[in-house]
Amino acid sequence: MVLKYYQLILGCQMNKSDAERVASFLESIGFVQTFDEKEANLICAQACSVRQSAVDRIKGRVDRWRAEQKRRPASNFLMTALTGCVLPADRKIFEKQFDLVCETNHLRQELVQRINGLTTVPTKRLAGKNSVEITDDDFFALAPKYSSKFRSYIPIQTGCNNFCTYCAVPYTKGPEQYRPYTKIVQEVKNLVKQGYKEITLLGQNVNTYCDQVKSQKVQFADLLKLINDIHGDFWIRFISSNPWDMSDEIIKAVAECQKVCEYVHLPLQSGSDKILKKMNRRYSQKEYLTLVDKIRAQIPNVAVTCDIIVGFPCETEKDFLETAKVMEKVKFDMAYIARYSPRPGTVAARFMKDNVSTKEKKRRERELERILRQSALERNQEYVGREVEALVEKVKSNPPTAEKVKSSSQKSKVLFGKTRTFKTVKLMSDRDLTGQIIKVKITKIREFGLEG
Ligand code: SF4
Repeated sequence: MVLKYYQLILGCQMNKSDAERVASFLESIGFVQTFDEKEANLICAQACSVRQSAVDRIKGRVDRWRAEQKRRPASNFLMTALTGCVLPADRKIFEKQFDLVCETNHLRQELVQRINGLTTVPTKRLAGKNSVEITDDDFFALAPKYSSKFRSYIPIQTGCNNFCTYCAVPYTKGPEQYRPYTKIVQEVKNLVKQGYKEITLLGQNVNTYCDQVKSQKVQFADLLKLINDIHGDFWIRFISSNPWDMSDEIIKAVAECQKVCEYVHLPLQSGSDKILKKMNRRYSQKEYLTLVDKIRAQIPNVAVTCDIIVGFPCETEKDFLETAKVMEKVKFDMAYIARYSPRPGTVAARFMKDNVSTKEKKRRERELERILRQSALERNQEYVGREVEALVEKVKSNPPTAEKVKSSSQKSKVLFGKTRTFKTVKLMSDRDLTGQIIKVKITKIREFGLEG
């Protein structure tokens, strides 16, 4: 009997990267991937408790899986496992609905024990695995089943010590932990050797990365330089950064390391000093603006993007206008705007009343989106006529029109890629160039994209 697994992956890149390692482990013990949940023997959900919408999506699917479990004969079992980012309050609910709920780095041990407990299942290959000692580092040591052949996300750090009052991460991922730099550099070297073109270093707060080996301290700026020195034609990106941990050394490293892309994602969350304080974010509006100026002065052509929350408890119209003011001033290339929703167990959920109505949150969101569309368009104007590099991500066939066939001038493929500044670029070609870094002359712009 071939055992099949299906993955439901929600949330951020960190979850997606963890899911690649989970897939690799499942295949190492004999499971085969399926993209059809109906034929799976194991459904493994990689949860995200950061947004209520992701939690709701799991709740919406789990009843269906439980009904399917009841229908299945013992010889064709279905097991459900939940891992990833799960808040204690959500965990209590999910423990009643899933066969197994555990931390991603404990999944291997727990899963092997459970499957070995299913006596009717031919799982000889799993015998003995349940005595394996598994640590965090062992989980990272697993070679992931990379989901792309040219782009890879490499975790360098997990957890967070910051406890922003709205955020679930410190409760779901625990305190900050860093992967040894030697292992990160080795993973990048292996990927570059295989032809990978884009490496994204991942963490909840990559800027605080620090690995100490004897008297040698490797901080994030040092790590960027070490990876930049790896021979090969590839780009380096990183997410996420905290404004208050964005040191001068990091800005200098981004400016000087040729392979590090000119792209900085700098979550703002609010432009109001009062709200920033309530969020436990350790910067003021003025400090944020000064930081953006410094980044723009030192990194030519850099794109700056951010996250913003609208409708945080006690956010008045005046506070909201401060956020709008920062958006007008900074002119972000992109902003990911979210309406506040309380996450159970966080300080904001426990002690602050969610007192901005949904209608008002939506209005504020729309207003910021309007400002964003203007600023993004303005930023993109700078690209017209310029030649930029783009990593081609995907191709779409372009059915030829009758006239174009006659003149045989139509390029038959539409390619989509990303520039170093993480802008989507669309271009025509007669060849599929997916996975290659190419030069594109920009001829047209839109608010959220370029054409060339
Ligand atoms: Fe959450 Fe980021 Fe704040 Fe950490 S720094 S608590 S991950 S929002």
